[in-house]
Amino acid sequence: MGKSQLEEKDRSDGAPVEMTPMTETGLCPYCLGSFKIVRGVLPRHGFRAHNVRHGTSGGFHTGACNGAGHQKIGTEAGNTKALDNATFYQARGEELAALPAFTREEGKAATIRAAQDTHLTRRANAWATPVPPTAEQRAAYATPEAFANTSVRGWFSDASYDHRAKSMTRERTQRAEAMITHAAALREAVAQNPA
Ligand SMILES: [Zn+2]
Repeated sequence: MGKSQLEEKDRSDGAPVEMTPMTETGLCPYCLGSFKIVRGVLPRHGFRAHNVRHGTSGGFHTGACNGAGHQKIGTEAGNTKALDNATFYQARGEELAALPAFTREEGKAATIRAAQDTHLTRRANAWATPVPPTAEQRAAYATPEAFANTSVRGWFSDASYDHRAKSMTRERTQRAEAMITHAAALREAVAQNPA
C-alpha cells in the first residue's frame, strides 16, 4: 500500500515514474563519449575533443558529434565505424604533423586578418554604443610617432609575424597529436569491446 501511495505521489508531482529503470549506455564510435542508448543508437551529443580549438580543423572539432544515430562500440556496426574513424584520424593527424612550419608570410597574413577582425569588432561596437574617444585615445593616434607606440602598431613587425607563425605551427602540431591519440583510443575501445 505504501509503495502505491508513493507512485501516486510521484505522478502527481509530474515526475516521470521509471517502471523499468534499466538503462543501456555505450561508447560513441566517433568521440568516445559515454551516452545513454536510445532505441538502439546514440542520441545527439557534442563532440568532446580535448586540446582542440573550435573551427581549426574540418574533421576534428568541438560541436555536434556525427555519432548521433550510430550504434555504440561493442556492436559490429559500431566497431566498424570506430575503426574507420581511427584510420581517418590517424591519417589526417600524420598528414598535419608532416606539414612544414608556417612561414613569416603566413604569420603576416594571419596577423592582418586578426587586425581586420578586431577593427570590424571595434567599429561594430562603436556603432552599437557610440562613445566619443577619450583625450588619451585621440592623442595615441594624433601623430605617426604616437601611433607607432600603440599596441596595435606593434603587431606589424617581422618579430610579430614570426611569433604568430610559430604559435600557428604549435597549435597545428597539438591538433595532429590529439588526432593520433584519439585514433589509438578508438582502436583500444574496440579491442576492449568486441562485437
Ligand atoms: Zn560522439
